[in-house]
Amino acid sequence: MRKAIGVDLGGSHVMAAVVEEDGRISSRDEIDIEDHAVDAVMHAVQQTIDAAMGTLGDNRAVVGIGIGSPGNIDPRSGSVLWSPNFGWKDVPLGERLRAHFDLPVFVGNDARCATLGEYTYGTGRGTKNFVLLTLGTGIGGGIVAGGELLLGNHAGAGEFGHHQIRPTDGFVCACGKIGCFEAQASGTGLIRHAFALAASFPRSRLLDKDRDKLGSKAIRKAAQAGDGHALAAWRNYTSDLALGLANVVAFVNPETIALGGGVSSAAEFMLDVVRPRVDELTTTVPRGMTKIVQAALGNDAGAIGAATMAFRGGLTARYAAA
Ligand SMILES: [Zn+2]
Repeated sequence: MRKAIGVDLGGSHVMAAVVEEDGRISSRDEIDIEDHAVDAVMHAVQQTIDAAMGTLGDNRAVVGIGIGSPGNIDPRSGSVLWSPNFGWKDVPLGERLRAHFDLPVFVGNDARCATLGEYTYGTGRGTKNFVLLTLGTGIGGGIVAGGELLLGNHAGAGEFGHHQIRPTDGFVCACGKIGCFEAQASGTGLIRHAFALAASFPRSRLLDKDRDKLGSKAIRKAAQAGDGHALAAWRNYTSDLALGLANVVAFVNPETIALGGGVSSAAEFMLDVVRPRVDELTTTVPRGMTKIVQAALGNDAGAIGAATMAFRGGLTARYAAA
């Protein structure tokens, strides 16, 4: 069976996986990243790829290397045009890796790669119009339209996180705007909803932990256990999530929207509230027709999707010859 190396490059660690053509990961290697200088990151990426290749007795079945990286990426050259996570501008990631490895190298945005992975091997399988949204520190995502990953004019399509859903009364987003979908409905957004309600729950112990140790999981679990403060935050959170999802339905009209990321791990607890609310807010297409489900590939979607890009010879057919 053909194999590809799929690399998930994040701000704090890099993971390289050997991915089989049926989507299974047969081995993985990870390294933490502390230094965001280009050479240090390149070295870590090369090391993990070398380690992944080292697990294979015979490399001849490997068709290529796919890298999912944060930032705006030119899918033709594989250059990172701009990455706020790394503080990079015009870094020729693809070119440098091609010089090092004797294999085709493809680079794509990490969220687009995850979308391609979930589309090909997860909940998007069999659909033609599909959206993945990852609810983590921020909101990443991507769109498949008519069976093809949508990149847009400058590879920026699918950045749902920065459409504003509460421009007058929302939280300030990392991008500087007010009330972006990401500020309201990411995992971080859930924590912010809990803080915003603190004054209404003076006896609540929910936020007693250090702020940097407080995760969305603790708040979600407290809500599931019936804590009043956490439930109020959860209601505001899911209400904002539904607002954004209804917009996604209006923009894309997908058959399926898959939700990934830590906050979606209690899927039915979330979806039982969100699905009917999205239906109420859906005015453009028949209600109840958009499937909203938990993503199937979890944290592996990025690496599997990056490998899928290598199997396909590019993120989309348009760039296959790049
Ligand atoms: Zn924003």
